[in-house]
Amino acid sequence: MGNNSRRRIIKSIFWSVCGACLAIALLGIFSGFPESALALKRNPAIDPTSSVHLTMGNPSQATTSLQNPTNYLMLKRTYALSYNRDRGGPNWVSWQLNSSWLGRVQRTEDWNADLSLPSGWDLISPSSYKGSGYDRGHMIPSDDRTKNTRDNSETFQMTNILPQAPDNNRGAWVELEKYARELVRKGNELYIIAGGVGQKGKIARGKVVVPARTWKVIIVLERPGEGVSGVNSNTRTIAVDMPNENGISQDWQQFKTSIDKLEADTGYDFLSAVPSDIQSAIESRVDGEITFFNSRNIFGIGIFVLVAALVAIGLYKFKQRLGL
Ligand code: MN
Ligand code: MN
Repeated sequence: MGNNSRRRIIKSIFWSVCGACLAIALLGIFSGFPESALALKRNPAIDPTSSVHLTMGNPSQATTSLQNPTNYLMLKRTYALSYNRDRGGPNWVSWQLNSSWLGRVQRTEDWNADLSLPSGWDLISPSSYKGSGYDRGHMIPSDDRTKNTRDNSETFQMTNILPQAPDNNRGAWVELEKYARELVRKGNELYIIAGGVGQKGKIARGKVVVPARTWKVIIVLERPGEGVSGVNSNTRTIAVDMPNENGISQDWQQFKTSIDKLEADTGYDFLSAVPSDIQSAIESRVDGEITFFNSRNIFGIGIFVLVAALVAIGLYKFKQRLGL
């Protein structure tokens, strides 16, 4: 073998190795392998408009602009909300609920004014509801954030609080909260949005509006981690609308409504991140409403077939007896 041909072989091996390295690197980039490495180089600041708690959408298109004091977006680690400066409370609060948020921490009772509001805005203090006859009603309940004291403490910020009539807060409202956590214990992941609508008065020297009604929307996903892609036209959603009054029923099921009805009453668009054909399918339903010919309602179809058969037999016997 001559010197020349040996050099040619070494050269071709060199370029082959280089080519292979380049191919592996490109493959790595396109298959997302170095994603974690790239992520470190990206701006670590949180995107001010995105949050796991807004997976299903931002119902009022709230923004973090100071020019938007009646629909001001606040993103917290454990929930997101639209704050209304003129009402002294949230328009809505939105949060994810799955087993990862639940632990054994006791209520911290760590009531605090929300110091993260823009400077110059009135702060609603934890004592401002005193003597009003209304409860400091959590939108995201304390019991939905029990993994650690820091999480639980965040639910006691006054931007998560609306004045709720005691029989609402401690009755049907808390019963639905418990039911939601039952669903999580069964393995579901929930996306929940809650708020108040209307006005039945003011408290805290006129700084806080008392909503006429409190409402809630719960999206029940079969499996955690699927996000919007886990929503289909059969996805269970629970929507309720409760008078903010004493003396109402303790049974949350009495207050079921459709998301469409809530959208009309509040002006919000719930589930805006969900494809519109799926939205229209699930938003018109009321939870638990029996649609007779529904593929999920095998029981209903069975009973219908049975009753139809009995009626047919009865008519036949009747006809025979008449001797026709
Ligand atoms: Mn409560
Ligand atoms: Mn909608």
